[in-house]
Amino acid sequence: MQHTLNTNGHTNGKTTNGIVVSNQWVYQKDDLHNIYRKVKAESAELLAVVNLSLDSLIDKEDGSNGLEDSGISRGGSGTERANTAVYIRSTQRIAALRRVIEAIQDGQYTGICRKCGETIALARLYIVPESNCCQHCARK
Ligand SMILES: [Zn+2]
Repeated sequence: MQHTLNTNGHTNGKTTNGIVVSNQWVYQKDDLHNIYRKVKAESAELLAVVNLSLDSLIDKEDGSNGLEDSGISRGGSGTERANTAVYIRSTQRIAALRRVIEAIQDGQYTGICRKCGETIALARLYIVPESNCCQHCARK
């Protein structure tokens, strides 16, 4: 990341949080900071979940790798499927959050609806930070 200056007033510690406020961003800078923090925290949480579910998948394979196959596999396969579902859902979410983080770091996070050009409600951005269209357009 080589973002040098921006017009935030804070020169100290500005580069450590990596946030570039888009000039289309109509809300408070603090809100962007909060969303960024939230997205980062959720990513970290999901990465932990992914590691867990990956570990449990790997453990399963190691454990059922032989004699106990018939007895345990029935109970195990359900858990395995659940873990796989969690894993897939989590990785998809991580990818979406990653795009949000990159957009914020690049000053591309605008909070503007891609379809109608209206501002996306701040509450919606907090709940669904990766949304790129407003509530109305999302329903269509
Ligand atoms: Zn819209």
